[in-house]
Amino acid sequence: MSGFNYEKDGDGIVTITMDMDGPVNSMSAEYGPMMKATVDRLEAESDLTGVVIASAKKTFFAGGDLKMLAQVTSETAGEFFEGCEAVKADLRRLERLPVPVAAAINGAALGGGLEICLACNYRVAWDDKSVKLGLPEVTLGLLPGGGGIVRMIHLLGLMASNEFLLEGKQVDPARAKEAGIIHEVVASRDELVGLAKAWILANKDNEDAAVQPWDRKGHKIPGGNANTPSLAQMIPAAAPMLIKKTRGLLPAPEKILDVAVSALRVDFDTALRIESRGLTYLVQTAVAKNMINTFFFQLNKVNGGASRPSDVEPQATKKVGVLGAGMMGQGIAYVSAMAGIEVVLKDIDKDAAIKGKGYSEKLLQKRVDKGRMTAEKMQEVLALITPSADNADLEGCDLIIEAVFENMTLKHKITKETEPCLAEGGVWGSNTSTLPITELAEASINPENFIGIHFFSPVDKMPLVEIICGEQTGDVALAKAFDFARQIRKTPIVVNDSLGFFTSRTFATYLEEGARLVMEGLHPIKIDNLGKAIGMPVGPLTIQDEVSQELSRKAQATWVELGYADRFGDQSQYRDFIDWMVLENDRGGRHHGGGYYDYHADGSKTLWPVVVDKYYKPEVSLADEDVKDRLLFRQVIEALKCLESGVLRTVADGNVGSIMGIGAPVWTGGFIQFVNTYGLDKFIARCEELSAAYGDRFDPPAIVAEKLAAGENFS
Ligand code: NAD
Repeated sequence: MSGFNYEKDGDGIVTITMDMDGPVNSMSAEYGPMMKATVDRLEAESDLTGVVIASAKKTFFAGGDLKMLAQVTSETAGEFFEGCEAVKADLRRLERLPVPVAAAINGAALGGGLEICLACNYRVAWDDKSVKLGLPEVTLGLLPGGGGIVRMIHLLGLMASNEFLLEGKQVDPARAKEAGIIHEVVASRDELVGLAKAWILANKDNEDAAVQPWDRKGHKIPGGNANTPSLAQMIPAAAPMLIKKTRGLLPAPEKILDVAVSALRVDFDTALRIESRGLTYLVQTAVAKNMINTFFFQLNKVNGGASRPSDVEPQATKKVGVLGAGMMGQGIAYVSAMAGIEVVLKDIDKDAAIKGKGYSEKLLQKRVDKGRMTAEKMQEVLALITPSADNADLEGCDLIIEAVFENMTLKHKITKETEPCLAEGGVWGSNTSTLPITELAEASINPENFIGIHFFSPVDKMPLVEIICGEQTGDVALAKAFDFARQIRKTPIVVNDSLGFFTSRTFATYLEEGARLVMEGLHPIKIDNLGKAIGMPVGPLTIQDEVSQELSRKAQATWVELGYADRFGDQSQYRDFIDWMVLENDRGGRHHGGGYYDYHADGSKTLWPVVVDKYYKPEVSLADEDVKDRLLFRQVIEALKCLESGVLRTVADGNVGSIMGIGAPVWTGGFIQFVNTYGLDKFIARCEELSAAYGDRFDPPAIVAEKLAAGENFS
């Protein structure tokens, strides 16, 4: 029977096994009445010894019902606040039962899940990789509104709870125990409830065991309260420091800090009420709605295979050939081996391939040193990678991915050489970042099985893979690339072929607009600062230095050579500028001796004086709002053009891809979602203003007016 199963044993211990409708337990509409009825019944028990809260699902408890949260409006905010208070009241009653309450944590306890655990006197978790604990609400623009902030502050103090509350850090049970969030870990899932019961029996006569630390007489918050001198000094500086980090674009961390500081000032129950008010405020913000939409609903849609052909059966990759053991190839080899896939890592000579494998060795050793992997497991993973300079080793690969130099002739050559090594039905993928897949596929004997699999650097850290379908790419190849990306635990977006695909093409506009602003005479530091002010992780000039002017110049030169120059608008000025930097001044980027900036041995950087002398004009003054909008709107417009022309197949791919691949500001929920929140009519009007003032690259794409006329949003 679904619900909260209630079972009392001979020792007087009641085990509540949460088994709600659906695949997970969550704070859905049925949770409130069920928890209330359960606590009512526990309070009415006569000979109760203790309570164990357990779960019948794979995870312990999944947290809030995001669908419901996303729908809260100013009209329903009052009702929502009351709902929060009701959830809290029941958890408060649970922790104030006169007997000890233990949580037996068998799987992930995130958000509301951890909040239930925190309302138990004792928390024991299964020591397994699948078990994660944390309060990730901040990553969705929300705050833990089930008592999470207040209990964490009373349990750990302000400083120690920072990473959990403000960063939404999720930890495994061992780390959670170390941090003081749980009391014990057990090796076997089957021992959980037994151990929880044993603890209850052992503490039957220990009065403190049934009283939460914050309800004990003389309780002191670890690290002190608002009157403790060290904290009293620090608190006024905390908000400005936080805003410096979030640039004032994210209301959730600010509100969390506000509630956390309140918890240091007022009594426990008042703090709980302030927390409910905080969540009620956040849940109505556009930022939270954007983040929930993209990081939850659209991300699940993308990862769930909305862009994968549904009629192709699962295509597991068993042996992958990686051509080129440079920066990208070595990363692709590492993530593949980590997923248990056999890898042949091939370069022009064996030494280069061995060096490429060395990268995996370095990353694995780090894991072992940190205690995150055993030495045996490291050897197992390493044994999966065969360095090679011989095509014969590629025999039987069901997937080959090339990551050799960005050169069409070379890529054609290796396609011809290695395609025959593929197993029957095998797929050949290119990790090119700028060359059209359809043209690369011209060298293929089987273009139906030729596809773009575009990784981001560094491969082991970046979560996105952009899959590009050439004109002739077939469904099986797409399914294969998609399933491979999921196998290596990446998020795959699927796009149609275009110069620069979706991500590189859209991102390039940020770099180009940055360069235009330099040429117009704005100070480079101001340009970089205003890029960060819109929420991009790095300013356009700094990131151009990282990407390297050299690479941008080569890409532009290749496009000119292939007859693609200016396909997306006149880029001749940018091309001349980059040529001036690289060819005339040897400013190829950070790793080529410097770009817009000089990089010094002590890690500091200073502006390259020549660019300032040549271009900076103090008399030029552009409104900050215009500069910010230029840097943002260029990218948004390019993303819309990708949607309009069918490069993007879905809005979800566009939003998820822009955040995870390009670093679109998280508050926007992605470049396309940005237009929904901005308002389609207002967006068109602002584009027209920018176009009149700065050029027709700001013309609003027709798709916006079409959506507006149809009374639709981008979804
Ligand atoms: P890299 O210069 O670091 O590595 C290229 C490797 O290919 C070198 O080790 C080289 O020896 C090897 N190689 C050359 N010819 C070969 C051949 N015939 N057979 C086998 N190996 C050969 O380059 P990279 O940065 O790793 O980029 C590789 C590819 O990935 C390029 O197409 C690039 O556009 C693309 N890419 C790069 C990035 C990035 O951020 N660097 C991101 C996405 C895609």
